Amino acid sequence: MSREQKAVECARKAFQTGRSKPLEHRMRQLRNLLRLLVERKEEIAEAMKKDIYRSEVGVQLYETLGLEAEIDLTMKKLSEWAAPRPVGKNIMTISDTVYIQPEPLGVVLIIGAWNYPWAVTIQPLIGAIAAGNAAVVKPSEVCVHTSKVMEDLLPLYLDKELYPVVTGGVSETQELLRQRFDHVFYTGNSVVGKLVMAAAAKHLTPVTLELGGKSPCYIDKNCDIPVACRRITWGKYSNCGQTCIAPDYILCEPSIQDRVLEEIKKSIKAFYTEDPKTCPDYGRIINQRHFKRVMAMTEDSTIAIGGEHDESTCYIAPTVLKDVKRSSKVMQEEIFGPLLPILTVAGVDEAISFINKGEKPLALYVFSPDDKVIKKVIAETSSGAVLANDCLVHYSVSALPFGGVGNSGMGSYHGKFSFDNLSHLRSCLIKKLKMEGVNDMRYPPHTAKKLGW
Ligand code: NAD
Repeated sequence: MSREQKAVECARKAFQTGRSKPLEHRMRQLRNLLRLLVERKEEIAEAMKKDIYRSEVGVQLYETLGLEAEIDLTMKKLSEWAAPRPVGKNIMTISDTVYIQPEPLGVVLIIGAWNYPWAVTIQPLIGAIAAGNAAVVKPSEVCVHTSKVMEDLLPLYLDKELYPVVTGGVSETQELLRQRFDHVFYTGNSVVGKLVMAAAAKHLTPVTLELGGKSPCYIDKNCDIPVACRRITWGKYSNCGQTCIAPDYILCEPSIQDRVLEEIKKSIKAFYTEDPKTCPDYGRIINQRHFKRVMAMTEDSTIAIGGEHDESTCYIAPTVLKDVKRSSKVMQEEIFGPLLPILTVAGVDEAISFINKGEKPLALYVFSPDDKVIKKVIAETSSGAVLANDCLVHYSVSALPFGGVGNSGMGSYHGKFSFDNLSHLRSCLIKKLKMEGVNDMRYPPHTAKKLGW
């Protein structure tokens, strides 16, 4: 039996004991997870520094504080979320007890990605624990040190039979995917997303796919360009552009392109100094393969800002490309790096038709002072999420479902959406064996007299 099979069997056996279900157990596990994040802050940060050159403050801001808030919220709300949910009744069931009872699905497989390795791996785990499931956790092998820290620490704090960690790469993940799960929760690129879904289909296992794509950003010529550009610069270059909801490219009218360039340049300097390479808040590309992939995208475009790079340290400066065409290399796939192409359009209508020619994105950004422009973009496009006049912050609102649509994913999570996504919402109807007379009309023979017609 392979290591992966053993882990799944162990989680399945532990689930069958029923011990993941009582709310006290779920609360205890969540409390322990919170303790892990607080007590092991240094180890977590050290590994992340080695993996992705993230500062300690960056680790807290972009990973652990959000997880701590999610655990707090889940612990506060768990008894409410897990309680029976009474529903409306019809004439046939008026005196019955009718409700929805959330119940655990069973064993969940969580496959994490590398760009925010704690956030995208542990956030679904919080939902899985809260919903009473067992879960096999597979962190991304691309973050070698973080993956090891998760493998070492999770069993020290959590029930290690219910929530085993399996480390490894493609072959280990594929071996896991050959096993039967009750839900697969995958975060990563769309190409692998299709493989995950195909593997899950063999067992009729439902999937949540948290994927990526090219998230557009339209800037209206009438907006406050310095403010818009500061927010876009933050959204784009955080984690060196390796954020699933980073604005991928800008659409704006030709008349404002130069001002946009100038304001982004000012913001880059204000955030990361004249020399971002020496700035602790500016990250690095995860590895040489991605470095080469991102650099190749600049080949047929004009670099207006940045462009400096160093292969040995996987450094690429915050870079803006101007007068980019839809046919340019940088527009063929999600960039996932610190390149920001600007494409010019005649106005909002052309921006909308440009966006609608592509796949449905994970996020869509519109910067405008005009509510009509904002509402028009919302009404005439589709995306996982849409934000007006800011970037990324919807991720932190646990009352909003986080997820994609179409090519950017399926299913959503965060807060109660995680709980519901990883629960079976079971329909329950309890009737008494009395008052049989009222059922008469539904039993044959169906005569007009009986039906009162
Ligand atoms: P990755 O390389 O870490 O892969 C993700 C996971 O898939 C890993 O655990 C890996 O082991 C596994 N995997 C890789 N190839 C596989 C294969 N052939 N078969 C089975 N499993 C395989 O991460 P990535 O895909 O480079 O991540 C970046 C992508 O993820 C971007 O597209 C980004 O937009 C997206 N993303 C989405 C979200 C979201 O919440 N929607 C969050 C982060 C990243």
